[in-house]
Amino acid sequence: MSPITSEEFNRRCINFFSLLQSAKKSAPLATSIGPGFIRPVESAIKKIPIIDCRAGCSYCCNLRVVAFPFEIIAIYFYLVENFSKREFEEFKARVHQQYQIIQGMTTEEHFATNIRCPLLADKKCSVYPVRPLSCAGYHSASVDACRDSDENPEITGMDRGGIPMIHEVKEAQSVQNTVAVEVLSKTRDDANQYELIRGLWKIMNNPKLIQRWKAGRVVFTDPG
Ligand code: SF4
Repeated sequence: MSPITSEEFNRRCINFFSLLQSAKKSAPLATSIGPGFIRPVESAIKKIPIIDCRAGCSYCCNLRVVAFPFEIIAIYFYLVENFSKREFEEFKARVHQQYQIIQGMTTEEHFATNIRCPLLADKKCSVYPVRPLSCAGYHSASVDACRDSDENPEITGMDRGGIPMIHEVKEAQSVQNTVAVEVLSKTRDDANQYELIRGLWKIMNNPKLIQRWKAGRVVFTDPG
């Protein structure tokens, strides 16, 4: 059974569609999609006291992240708008550095290796309001399990029991994922998710790719 009514689902789709269309006309508006898009997940997390996630804990920022193209483009514009040119260039250099590390990795190798997100600074997400749904929905009921996973990245899956997660949060994340895929499929936009570092580097290195996104074309040729 869906955790929300069909009316609420439709309302979220209409809202997402409207913000997406605005961003297609003026790409910097992509930054206005994320905060509302991830809010249901943030609300679900706030309601559950046993969740161990705290500001300054960043074990999960060493994990492989995937994001929709609109999320990667929103991060790009967030960096452009909220940081100086020098800081932006520093982010770009860090993204490139991490991109070079993962470039030759398979998906499985990346899953089994700690790769620090280049957007993490002082144990905080530099793009927190527009972080991807996959980051916003990641949570844990045990910081010990996260530490263990971070210290043993080569052990993936449920081999050590995995990260204890809460059904309601996963469900809230899944609904938002479905909202995005539903709308993006209907508008014939790219509804795939891509590895974040790779996608961000491609956009930072060649911002003209944003025109492809505005035109509804596939932005990234190599899924990841
Ligand atoms: S985008 Fe932000 S929350 Fe997600 S992995 Fe990077 S630093 Fe962490």
